[in-house]
Amino acid sequence: MKERYSVNVSVESEDSFQLYDLRVEVVCPPGKRIMCGAKNGDFFTLQGEMLKLPPNQGISIYSLGAVLPLLAAKQRVTPPSDWMSTDAEVACPDPNCPSRLRIIRTGVGTFRHGDVTPFCV
Ligand SMILES: [Zn+2]
Repeated sequence: MKERYSVNVSVESEDSFQLYDLRVEVVCPPGKRIMCGAKNGDFFTLQGEMLKLPPNQGISIYSLGAVLPLLAAKQRVTPPSDWMSTDAEVACPDPNCPSRLRIIRTGVGTFRHGDVTPFCV
């Protein structure tokens, strides 16, 4: 099947690959009670496998658990019509909490296959 979409991520060499850098931000509706300790604008970043939080800011393990399974897929190129491309917000897993986690593709990082696994291509 012919690919009908273009991608921003390319293969630079046999030994390299690219992944989107991600920023995951908390979005809280104004005036609503937040149950998971998050504040509007709290965030973490993900580059490759490295998740980083700003100093003195935490994240609920339940909120992290809700978004974590999606991050590896969101790092990769997906067709424009794929919901992984179009949908960016994940609901807080607490049914009484109106906050969302918004996953934003912020850039592209290049990695070498040999740096992440001992197995040959
Ligand atoms: Zn919440």
